Amino acid sequence: TTKLEIRGITKSYGKTLALGSTDLVVEKGEFLTLLGPSGSGKTTLLMMIAGLTEPSGGRILIDGVDVTDRPSSERNIGVVFQNYALFPHMTVAENVAFPLKMRRRPADEIAAAVRDALAIAQLNELAGRYTDELSGGQQQRVALARAIVFRPALVLMDEPLGALDKRLRDDLKEEIRRMHRQLGTTIVYVTHDQDEAMMLSDRICLMDKAQVVQVDPPSRLYNAP
Ligand code: ADP
Ligand code: ADP
Repeated sequence: TTKLEIRGITKSYGKTLALGSTDLVVEKGEFLTLLGPSGSGKTTLLMMIAGLTEPSGGRILIDGVDVTDRPSSERNIGVVFQNYALFPHMTVAENVAFPLKMRRRPADEIAAAVRDALAIAQLNELAGRYTDELSGGQQQRVALARAIVFRPALVLMDEPLGALDKRLRDDLKEEIRRMHRQLGTTIVYVTHDQDEAMMLSDRICLMDKAQVVQVDPPSRLYNAP
């Protein structure tokens, strides 16, 4: 597991300030949620951690190593988005294997890692199915398995439950909690749903208008000084 340090990270799009200068440390194995209304800068911050958006200023350190100038592919980070972003013409197993194939891992290692990831996400029975035949909840489990299959240092999730109905959301919330406990991975999670943040997080980073307002455990969110 991994410690993440965000040092004075900031992002502007022309005259729009998407994220004011932000400092944040996510401890090893911690589940930290960015909680805030639409437009508060959550996705922008997550994308800069992932290496998918270039910061206007500041540094990002992973286990003390400055990765700010490294491409996304060299950051060892798993990412899960709201819209799954699966490959419809690949089976579940092929989707999950994809990050390892990209990394040119040997076939036996890929097979073992895919088996493990499918088991963790409880997808064994669906391994041979095409992803466009699956329900939204099943597809999001595939996206979770694909994000952890290469044992990333850090997993980032952007509203992973956003497209699901309430019952599936509740199921998958449990699933995410269980995976976090089982893997011990450091997770940065984005949502605008307060209940979701309260249930999942070790700490919540409250954001508004491109600023971090407060960082506290759920129990202290409302009565911190
Ligand atoms: P959130 O994830 O909290 O909804 P975002 O990080 O998506 O917030 O957006 C923060 C601000 O930055 C918003 O004002 C948004 O319109 C702006 N923004 C985000 N991405 C871009 C972009 N590619 N170009 C211009 N403005 C952007
Ligand atoms: P979210 O709330 O999940 O951030 P948004 O609707 O704000 O979703 O943004 C969706 C996509 O559009 C993101 O890739 C974001 O960077 C981009 N985006 C958001 N606001 C703007 C903007 N004003 N101009 C251009 N791109 C934007």
